[in-house]
Amino acid sequence: MDSTDGPEIEIRGLHKSFGDNHVLRGIDLEIARGEVVCVIGPSGSGKSTLLRCVNLLEEPTAGQVFVGGTEVTDLDVDIDAVRRRIGMVFQQFNLFPHISVTENLTLPQRRVLRRDKTKAAEVARRNLERVGLSDKADAFPAQLSGGQQQRVAIARALSMGPEVMLFDEPTSALDPELVGDVLAVMRQLAAEGMTMMVVTHEMSFAREVADRVVFMDGGVIVEEGPAQRVVGDPQHERTRNFLMRIL
Ligand code: ADP
Ligand code: MG
Repeated sequence: MDSTDGPEIEIRGLHKSFGDNHVLRGIDLEIARGEVVCVIGPSGSGKSTLLRCVNLLEEPTAGQVFVGGTEVTDLDVDIDAVRRRIGMVFQQFNLFPHISVTENLTLPQRRVLRRDKTKAAEVARRNLERVGLSDKADAFPAQLSGGQQQRVAIARALSMGPEVMLFDEPTSALDPELVGDVLAVMRQLAAEGMTMMVVTHEMSFAREVADRVVFMDGGVIVEEGPAQRVVGDPQHERTRNFLMRIL
């Protein structure tokens, strides 16, 4: 299969159950290379589970997921190789508290990618600069604001050289005044052409940055389309109700 053609992410007939809880009930979604898709929807609708199925943090119950043309749900796939191609940023930043910002960026490169010290440090330096935190290279996570920690987490993911970035409510744990800096970094990544899947409640970000918005409810995609249409002129009652509650 030629990884230069076709969608960067393709999800076909995806189902996920946890015991009796049928969480994802048939998700079909294609994301083109360089496309930014925001996933919105009420709590419990399956947004995190969907992201986690894309990088196999959860094993789908049925269906297929392709990333860059490789079927990641193929039982013979090298899961570690797949995960290296997919960066993920969570609501909680999950930085190692006992090592410096730079070491947080170099450690996974050295362990997972087997990069040497010099190369890992160079990549770390470049990515800290990218998120505007060159001056925090030697700081410890606890010395940083939540917004700065989240930008470090983004730089850490970028240091692995991913083809795709998944964001799961990256600004939900932040004080409101810190949200803007994180969104600015994400906006810049989008402008650089990164393929991004972003679960967020930030409707202004969705409207300005997303090529497409997907509204999920009850484990299905209820509607999707350009942000102006889904957010500005929703066609479904469930979408309207959701937007009315959060806007
Ligand atoms: P959202 O991110 O849209 O809030 P989630 O994907 O986190 O929704 O959760 C959807 C449903 O799946 C919820 O009912 C949740 O309790 C359940 N769920 C998610 N992860 C697990 C898990 N690891 N084990 C059992 N149930 C889970
Ligand atoms: Mg979630």
